[in-house]
Amino acid sequence: MRRLLIAGNWKMNTNVGEGEALAEALRDVDTNSVDVLVAPPFTHIDRVARALKGTEVFLGAQNVSEDTCGAHTGEIAAEMLADLSVDYVIVGHSECRGRGEVDATVAKKAARALDAGLLPIICFGESEEVYGSKERVDFLKKQVEASLAGIKDLDKITLAYEPIWAIGTGKTADAADADAVIGQVRAALDPAIQGKVRILYGGSVKSSNVAGFVAKENIDGVLVGGASLKADEFKAIAREA
Ligand code: PEP
Repeated sequence: MRRLLIAGNWKMNTNVGEGEALAEALRDVDTNSVDVLVAPPFTHIDRVARALKGTEVFLGAQNVSEDTCGAHTGEIAAEMLADLSVDYVIVGHSECRGRGEVDATVAKKAARALDAGLLPIICFGESEEVYGSKERVDFLKKQVEASLAGIKDLDKITLAYEPIWAIGTGKTADAADADAVIGQVRAALDPAIQGKVRILYGGSVKSSNVAGFVAKENIDGVLVGGASLKADEFKAIAREA
């Protein structure tokens, strides 16, 4: 059985005080039957970690450098995140891919994360144009294959299917369709890890629609953007899941 993961991606939102208050308000989130993770901006991680100390909530980062420590101005190394007790790191989010991040870079970032003892959440997903085409499943399988290239410890990976057209738009994917496409992506993974890898759905998830997604056989949780910024709503998502 794969345990559900409910992950909140705060993106570039909140100031440090607001982030700390949000984390405080999440201290009583129900983690009995699901894993819960928050990924604040880098600048908030230390304070959020302190605010969540003693809870079962996992700590995430939203990105990581493809390089190890050294002369890489403006970057954050996986070792630095590990030093802050970060557990997970999101890589390959469509908002990063949209700024020019390619699959090979995503794979390198995931490998650096694993080297530092972090668990990568690798995002993949198609544009609205590809969604409507017959190439859709091939596109997604290739994107995942290339984003996993060269990675050892594949069983430590989490994937997140995030159709770009569903992110922040209020348009959710159809749960049965997301389940089917995730099932096809899962079936293309190395048979040794197929049953182990968690694959999340992300795109306009809220407390009123989460149950429909996590009830599906192939959907092992959700990656939540906008709705993770409201503590009561995020706690309701974890409860309804
Ligand atoms: C996301 O950014 O990963 C996301 C799924 O955003 P939202 O929930 O706001 O659609």
